[in-house]
Amino acid sequence: MKAKYLLIICLLFISKNYAQKREEPQKPKLVVGIVVDQMRYDYLTRFWDRFEDDGFKRLVTEGYNFKNHHFNYVPTYTGPGHASVWTGTTPMNHGIIGNNWFDKVKGESVYCTDDDSVSPVGTNSKAGKMSPVLLKTTTVSDQNRLHTQMKGKTIGVALKDRGSILPAGHTANAAYWFYGGNEGKFITSSFYRVDLPKWVQDFNNSGKVESYLKEWNTLYDIETYTASGIDENDFERGFTGKETATFPYDLKSLSGKNGDFGIISSTPFGNDLTTDFALAALKGENLGQDNITDFLTLSFSSTDYVGHNFGVNSKEVEDTYLRLDKNIAKLLEFLDNYVGKGEYTIFLTADHGAVDVPSYLQSVKIPGGYFDDIQFTKDLEEYVFNEFNEEDLIQNISNGQIFFNYEKLKDANIGVEELENSVAFYCIQQTQIDKVVTRSQLTGANFSSGIRELLQNGFNQKRSGDVVFVLNPATIVYSKTGSTHGSGLTYDTHAPLIFFGAGVKPGSTTERSEIPDIAPTVASLLGIAFPSGASGAPLYMMLDQ
Ligand SMILES: [Zn+2]
Repeated sequence: MKAKYLLIICLLFISKNYAQKREEPQKPKLVVGIVVDQMRYDYLTRFWDRFEDDGFKRLVTEGYNFKNHHFNYVPTYTGPGHASVWTGTTPMNHGIIGNNWFDKVKGESVYCTDDDSVSPVGTNSKAGKMSPVLLKTTTVSDQNRLHTQMKGKTIGVALKDRGSILPAGHTANAAYWFYGGNEGKFITSSFYRVDLPKWVQDFNNSGKVESYLKEWNTLYDIETYTASGIDENDFERGFTGKETATFPYDLKSLSGKNGDFGIISSTPFGNDLTTDFALAALKGENLGQDNITDFLTLSFSSTDYVGHNFGVNSKEVEDTYLRLDKNIAKLLEFLDNYVGKGEYTIFLTADHGAVDVPSYLQSVKIPGGYFDDIQFTKDLEEYVFNEFNEEDLIQNISNGQIFFNYEKLKDANIGVEELENSVAFYCIQQTQIDKVVTRSQLTGANFSSGIRELLQNGFNQKRSGDVVFVLNPATIVYSKTGSTHGSGLTYDTHAPLIFFGAGVKPGSTTERSEIPDIAPTVASLLGIAFPSGASGAPLYMMLDQ
């Protein structure tokens, strides 16, 4: 008898708990998705000891840290990176195959956010003729707009147009980006609005931008910057008009030879400016102030400009991340007060990593090098002419892809596969080319591992070329100073991913996750439909439900 009562009590207890677990978690009032341009995963660990408790460290310790997070496609550039984070898929489906690529129909190179049909707003410059028209699938912020009958807002913010436009998606209320030059202001296009709202006009007129044309010196004593190489070395480009790439930099006097207001973007002050503008956007647009989820898509572009200019191992990169830590802290503190602690969700990731400067790697006996793409183009054209006795069979070479001229092939009665095989045969004999794959191979089978899988995920059947080649590790088409990116090697693919706030269970994992998993995870957290082309899967281990 006693046992029976005990069983009933147990069952009641279990069902009560079960009912509690079934309660739908409160949706966040706001999602802030942060992309840090060119942030390698190891920047978190490399600068960890110098971060304060309220910035990156707070995200990691209170949030969920994915330590083995990667890009799963090539090429790892800014346009494809931002598109992949927000659409939950790869260039194969969203169609952003580079920052620029050769448009086979137009017969010319196009830029990933170019749109001739729209007009600039806030400037007369063609820097405003931009929209997400080339992005083929939806973003998770688009899905939120559809789900909320367009009541949940989306605002995009970045210095770079593509860092603002691609994340904000097709249905954004607005995306804003920075136009430097002699104007120095945030602009948009008629794709979103016919004019700048008052809060943007006020921001542009506030003198904020001009205030950053000041001296850039290290935030702390440079002697304490032990996570980077010496300040003066042979591997940094620096600014035009200053002989050495060494602190301090007087931005006001250097601005004339370095893009006027544009020089701000190439310093950590560009991230300060982005933060100022993001806070103004949160207030100006009343984001996160009711129970319908809004999105702020935020990208910090200056990290990329500094990395390109000074290289992965520079004091300038170290300083830029110590300062970005302050920006993150400022943003979190603002959101705690404005939206409320636990009422918003943040994710932070990157759009690609970067390679250590190859000339530096060579100096410490690690293989690396520089590929002369202009010479390669000449040599390949000559080879093809000798083989087929026809001119102009190759139409374009860009982003490691060789595009054929189909009209010429048809006229000369040369089979596509015949040319594919011949070009691939030539490519693999080049000492700096490591791997080659053809269109026929990429469309004829599904690759599930290694570089071929990455190439396939980056290959868009309509937009990509006919032969794809891969350079040796740490071999780049770039100047001998500064860092770049684009490959499928881990220095370019390994990125941070931290989720934080509403709906997120604290923790960490070393299990592999991939960039296209982010958008489906956000969609799951909100209980909304996945982006139309999503190929990633929700990272359920961190979902607090
Ligand atoms: Zn980038």
